Amino acid sequence: METSDREYCELCGEPIRGKGTTVLYEGSIITVCDSCYSKIRKYSKPAQKQEVRKPKQFVSNAFVSKPKYNLSEDIEIVDDYYKLIKQARERMKMTQFQLAQKLKVSENIVKRFELGKLKPTIDQAKSIEKILGVKLIVPVENNGAEGDREDELTLGDIVRIREGRK
Ligand SMILES: [Zn+2]
Repeated sequence: METSDREYCELCGEPIRGKGTTVLYEGSIITVCDSCYSKIRKYSKPAQKQEVRKPKQFVSNAFVSKPKYNLSEDIEIVDDYYKLIKQARERMKMTQFQLAQKLKVSENIVKRFELGKLKPTIDQAKSIEKILGVKLIVPVENNGAEGDREDELTLGDIVRIREGRK
């Protein structure tokens, strides 16, 4: 969670240093950072804040930075991804280097994927699925199906912990 007293610029979505400037711009009253204010100053009028603080969800989504992997809440990469990648790559008579080039990563990364030392990101897994025609991404099963792996965190859990969300 972000500190609740932090204000975000309603144009660029960046945290505002200092007080920010509240202006009437294109019919709505918004609070912007100094750098945005200098850009819109000509088109805006000074305004009073209607309330002390608007609820965060009123901030236009278009300007708020999006979580990197929204989807990772519901999908995960299969545990034996490294076997699948290696088998599929060999079946296609592709070298690790060639696969690396298609993925735009270094050959070393592909080696580590195939050794099970490095899990591809969701984006990388999607590319690998397309290139090799394998299935690496599966939906996370939440309906009690995880009873046999209680001690393991799902990818979703890890993402949540890392990002401090939910
Ligand atoms: Zn701004």
